[in-house]
Amino acid sequence: MDKVKLGISSCLLGDNVRYDGGHKLDHYLKDTLDKFVEWVGVCPEVECGLGVPREAMHLVGAPESSRLVTRNSNIDHTEKMLSWTEGRLKQFEKEGLCGFVFKNNSPSCGLNSVFSKKGMGIFAKEFSSYFKLMPVEDEDRLRDDRIRESFIKNIYIFKKTH
Ligand code: SF4
Repeated sequence: MDKVKLGISSCLLGDNVRYDGGHKLDHYLKDTLDKFVEWVGVCPEVECGLGVPREAMHLVGAPESSRLVTRNSNIDHTEKMLSWTEGRLKQFEKEGLCGFVFKNNSPSCGLNSVFSKKGMGIFAKEFSSYFKLMPVEDEDRLRDDRIRESFIKNIYIFKKTH
């Protein structure tokens, strides 16, 4: 089977890009999808210039207009993130991505779960609205066999039709 190119929050690949210098390597995800996938790892917080380590952030404000703000010093990094994201989305278009796997519970990458009350992560939200038809999932949901099978089917359909 041909491999498909998938974007992924790079901490899930084991890159030490988290605010505390750690990673969130997802063995399960790697073991189950590696045979189908060529990964394109992205850490929006590092790539937009926030560095490692950095102060932890959270989302502030209403879900439809939430802001990315540092937890203690209250610095708003929303514009920095949006400005980087705009350029990176255009690059993704040229790279031929067929889907994206996001890290859950992140103010930048979170698609669902607890952050749904405060809105999606800033990068995940921009990505999903730019690539409206591209299959996206979060790491947690992909542990469900049915969801994972459907995601794999959808990324191959996307590959064939784009
Ligand atoms: S969740 Fe996203 S922003 Fe946070 S460390 Fe992982 S890749 Fe970087």
